[in-house]
Amino acid sequence: KSGFITIIGRPNVGKSTLMNHLIGEKISIISNKPQTTRNTIQTILTNDNYQIVFIDTPGLHKPKHKLGEYMMKVATNTLREVDLIIYIINPDENIGPGDKYILEQLKDVKTPVFLVINKIDTVKKEIIAQTIENFKNVLQFDEVIPISALKGDNVNTLLNLIVDKL
Ligand code: GDP
Ligand code: MG
Repeated sequence: KSGFITIIGRPNVGKSTLMNHLIGEKISIISNKPQTTRNTIQTILTNDNYQIVFIDTPGLHKPKHKLGEYMMKVATNTLREVDLIIYIINPDENIGPGDKYILEQLKDVKTPVFLVINKIDTVKKEIIAQTIENFKNVLQFDEVIPISALKGDNVNTLLNLIVDKL
């Protein structure tokens, strides 16, 4: 199995931490940042069963910045061209401007989206449930997975769901 995936989310939600956890546990080959014409390949995770290529979506990493038309286009194209979008959020926040921006972009693409609620080690279950509810009211997701990227909780489940989807 193989596929292209992008991890998106506001700054500090834990994108890099999740990436590091996946790399630390699972991979035999890492390839960092070779440029393709349009997208940046961050990392390749491979073993006997799968090859997962992670693509960077720069325009969506910094939604606070005013984006040039080119950056917008790159971001949108990336979302359309990958096989799966992993969208990471904090466990305890209302939907602010950054997430609103991302949700707007996601509405326009047909690519499957997994909503990943990270840092579940930091808040109560009820708060996580409320956050999930808030986001589900705005957009439908193919999977909703609470994790702690830092502690590794549920990261394996996430990876299995990713591989299933490829
Ligand atoms: P990014 O900007 O989305 O790449 O976020 P980072 O991966 O750099 O994480 C931002 C901060 O959140 C760092 O201090 C991480 O250690 C912390 N962090 C990430 N994941 C978790 C988690 O699951 N639990 C806790 N408690 N902290 C986390
Ligand atoms: Mg990062």
